Amino acid sequence: MPSFASSVPPAGAGSAEMLEAQLRQAEPCLWANPDWQAAPAPGEVGQAQINAAQQRFERAAALLARVFPVLAEAGGRIASPLVRTAELQCALGLDAACGALWLKCDHLLPVAGSVKARGATHEILELAERLALAHGLMAAGDDLTVLASAPARALFAQHEVAVGSTGNLGMGVGLIAKALGFRARVHMSHDAKAWKKARLRAHGVEVLEHAGDYALAVQAGREAAAQDPLCHFVDDEQSRSLLLGYSVAAGELQAQLDAAGVMVDARHPLFVYLPCGVGGAPGGITLGLRERFGPHVHCFFAEPVQSPCMLLQLRAGLGAEPSVYGMGLTNRTEADGLAVAQASRLAAGLMRERLSGVYTVDDATLFQHLVRAHEAEGLRIEPSAAAGLEGPLRLTQSPIGRAWLAHTGLLAQLPQATHVAWTTGGSLLPDAEFGQFVARGRGLSATATAGAAAS
Ligand SMILES: *Cc1c(COP(=O)(O)O)cnc(C)c1O
Repeated sequence: MPSFASSVPPAGAGSAEMLEAQLRQAEPCLWANPDWQAAPAPGEVGQAQINAAQQRFERAAALLARVFPVLAEAGGRIASPLVRTAELQCALGLDAACGALWLKCDHLLPVAGSVKARGATHEILELAERLALAHGLMAAGDDLTVLASAPARALFAQHEVAVGSTGNLGMGVGLIAKALGFRARVHMSHDAKAWKKARLRAHGVEVLEHAGDYALAVQAGREAAAQDPLCHFVDDEQSRSLLLGYSVAAGELQAQLDAAGVMVDARHPLFVYLPCGVGGAPGGITLGLRERFGPHVHCFFAEPVQSPCMLLQLRAGLGAEPSVYGMGLTNRTEADGLAVAQASRLAAGLMRERLSGVYTVDDATLFQHLVRAHEAEGLRIEPSAAAGLEGPLRLTQSPIGRAWLAHTGLLAQLPQATHVAWTTGGSLLPDAEFGQFVARGRGLSATATAGAAAS
């Protein structure tokens, strides 16, 4: 297996100056990670911790089926379908000779309606378990059904869970914490959608609105929580527990690929495209996938052209603390789940040798993909979640993508490749909200068609 130390496409295909200009001008780009390693050095967390998280979910299945009626049918399992999407592949214009497109439908995850369901549930379960252990309500390794008992609920009612979020994490954490009997408080940034705030309030979650961006909402929440010893702050920028909750998705995907008869090896590469905000969700998933598939899985993060925080962080190296504002970017995007100016250092550290690359997408493309996913497959995804759909096109059709594929020897394996776009959220979108997104996407397509006809 060649080291990817020299995997940056040769000069001419995309120089550092060209990338810098594209980033500053908010033009879509693709960056291949020169630090990728076939066998990465051990990170802060690894398979042992992922296994513990997996076991925690298993011990919680009966509890979750009990506190969330929507989970009863699934036996308390928080899982999403993997679907082969030939129609959408065709609508996107991805040639069948480039492999097969699948979607990992985390937008359908129960309770939170987004990728946040696994991370948020895991962190709240771990907190509840820690409190119950400390108060002698259970023994280590016990089934967690006891967390629904009256004494446990009385204990949790004395405690508060707080979180800072652009929307979806708050929704996950708020609803799950409330369901276990905690008080819950969500600090929201200016870009959080009104319906997300309304839904949380309807569930008895306290919502505090901040005028600033995501990082300021997190900071405000972190500071407020630090004043209160009975408050647990779910820290999206630093939490291992969240990241480990997300990582459990890798085992789920592997089982689904196995069941579908999809091979992953040197001749059958797996490409996974993950929308990235602060990096915890895609970082946890990538960590889990690299543990399972080694060098045969290639994970790419998708970021808005105005918020490429992980690309900037990995490109600058871990000693630096770049922000999208420093590049003259606005951090404004309709992809509210991805509107983050600075990446999680925990996630960036783990991604340095594990991630294959990052690409950026403009909002117009997100809306157009959202419409294609709706028309071809009847999916209801939010703009953030549409970012993954651009990945296979960028990799197989752009000059830089093809140069990278040729350089890594993967071009020859493309016909047997599997592409998985992670659709990270959207099933809870109200009809009116989703209808507006579709109208906007259709309007953009009509304008593009008219423009092409005129020129
Ligand atoms: C949160 C979120 C992401 C990205 O997760 P991070 O942990 O912030 O990187 C992607 N898509 C959607 C819909 C999200 O809500």
